[in-house]
Amino acid sequence: MKAVVNRQPGGLENTRFEDVEKPKGKVMVRVTFAGLNPVDINVILGKVNYNISPYPHIPGAEFVGVVDDPGSSRKFRKGDRVLVYPRVYDGTCERCVSGREELCRNGGVTGVASNGGFSEFYGTDDSHLEMIPDAMSFEDAVSIPVGGLTAYHAINRAGLAKGEKFLVVGASGNTGWHSLLLGKLKGAEAFYVSRKKWVAESGAREWNKEKVDVIVNSLGSEVWEPYIDYLDTGGRVVTFGTLTGREARLNIASLYTGERSIIGSTSGTRKEFSELIRIVSENGLKSRLWKIFDLSDYRKAIEEYERRDGRIILRVSDV
Ligand SMILES: [Zn+2]
Repeated sequence: MKAVVNRQPGGLENTRFEDVEKPKGKVMVRVTFAGLNPVDINVILGKVNYNISPYPHIPGAEFVGVVDDPGSSRKFRKGDRVLVYPRVYDGTCERCVSGREELCRNGGVTGVASNGGFSEFYGTDDSHLEMIPDAMSFEDAVSIPVGGLTAYHAINRAGLAKGEKFLVVGASGNTGWHSLLLGKLKGAEAFYVSRKKWVAESGAREWNKEKVDVIVNSLGSEVWEPYIDYLDTGGRVVTFGTLTGREARLNIASLYTGERSIIGSTSGTRKEFSELIRIVSENGLKSRLWKIFDLSDYRKAIEEYERRDGRIILRVSDV
């Protein structure tokens, strides 16, 4: 089968689109589409600070497909359209048992701690799969595992509640966009900062220095200080990305006197993944799709990532 393969750590020059052996798994999924996210680019460019395994390595954290061989699974049949939970987890450690699979002691991000979906086939346990609702397209489904789930978990971790105000900085990114849509569904009042005019189509309002209860920061350093002073007392900053840098200054006095909180968030739980698919389906939530590239054109897709105007997804095999 064809796959994007990182032969050794350290960048695009070590990456090929080539034939590799088909993986083994309890359920074999033929991948149709994969999302392109910062995590994948960082893996390919050798910019990650966590362990990539195995080598040679197939990246791809976010992907959907069709069951090609259900193996002994009773939950799925050949031809079922499925989403893949973007974490590997053992289901047995104390974190998994308490429903926090994203912190599994023996797990990690799919496509980082394991081979991923930039590949014609992906083999997995059926507990990692969910059915794509009939009315949902592959192109909409493929934004759920990373973009949607990261946003959903983050606003849950922040405890965003009905009537609260929240600000999303970097709102045109896939996680930012989903944060706006999902926060509004919770009955919160949404504000955004973005250079992209189309973000207004989310129904959120452009931020005008209002005090807010929650700030969703997916971009790191550059968007930390300009906004943190607008966090109301009792407010929470939730963060899950560092595209603009990892370091930030913190006024500890402001933190405790106003009982403000800083919350880290990553991916989402297995239960949230199921919930989110239903929420996206019932409310018809859409991503803003910009371009589809064939998997073989992954280099071009990465080159265009910085100037994207919406989602970039990869077509892995024909629907
Ligand atoms: Zn575990």
